[in-house]
Amino acid sequence: MSVDPFSNIRIVLVNTTHPGNIGGTARAMKNMGLKNLYLVEPKEFPSDKAVWRSAGATDVLDNAVVVDTLDEAIAGCGLVVGTSARERRIPWPLLDPRECGESVWQEAGQHQVAVVFGREDRGLTNEELHKCNYHVHIPANPEYSSLNLATAVQVVCYEIRMAYLMAAEGKTLTQHQWDMPPATAESLGAYYTHLEETLVSLGFLDPENPKQTMTRLRRLYNRVRLDQMELNILRGVLTSMQNYIFYTNKKLDQIKPDATDDARTSDA
Ligand code: SAH
Repeated sequence: MSVDPFSNIRIVLVNTTHPGNIGGTARAMKNMGLKNLYLVEPKEFPSDKAVWRSAGATDVLDNAVVVDTLDEAIAGCGLVVGTSARERRIPWPLLDPRECGESVWQEAGQHQVAVVFGREDRGLTNEELHKCNYHVHIPANPEYSSLNLATAVQVVCYEIRMAYLMAAEGKTLTQHQWDMPPATAESLGAYYTHLEETLVSLGFLDPENPKQTMTRLRRLYNRVRLDQMELNILRGVLTSMQNYIFYTNKKLDQIKPDATDDARTSDA
């Protein structure tokens, strides 16, 4: 049975002060088809103000999971994205909201995903942000970049919905901005053949008993999504290795007869 990615996505609010923002978040989530709300130590919850601001999305509030720590809220998640209104001292892998929507949607088809939002007055701590795989920043007016909490949730949930709609319409998701075209299937095929030959020449791969090594290497390279330039560099490395092996073998062949002669001589 296939998973419903929406059920694998959690929105996590950390230490929310104003219950109205919890209600606004529930509304934003339900509008975009999301349902799992986690609240880490909210100041006031349950709350009539939250119900009022949710404008009917009370099912999201009723099902909200209240926990004591961020660790509990993100337990079991394969992808955790933290949101931040400003640049932090230690740079972290960054996604824009669109990339965030795409990654969240894609990965939610495989495992649990969390998007974490911070306190109204001071956002998330560095320690909390370092628990996240990626950070996302909504590129607002740099002179006034901090959105209302529920509004920030709305933007991120909207991008998740857009990614869902794109996938549902069978449209390919936008490729990440990159300076090189991706390696083509043919060039990758040629690379794997070259790699296999080199690994055999090195004595690393036994052609009689190759096991799953090449499959695993393919999967490794697939995960990286090589571009054409990177592939050319790797082909160059393989060619240098093969040249090295060739000349080393040739030298050994030249040395061997002498060495044998020497050995014979000394034996004699
Ligand atoms: N003064 C705080 C802002 C907190 S706003 C600070 O400087 O960090 C409350 C939360 O809304 C943030 O923790 C974040 O989760 C979200 N948020 C607000 N503006 C955002 C933006 N431009 N990009 C990403 N998240 C944002």
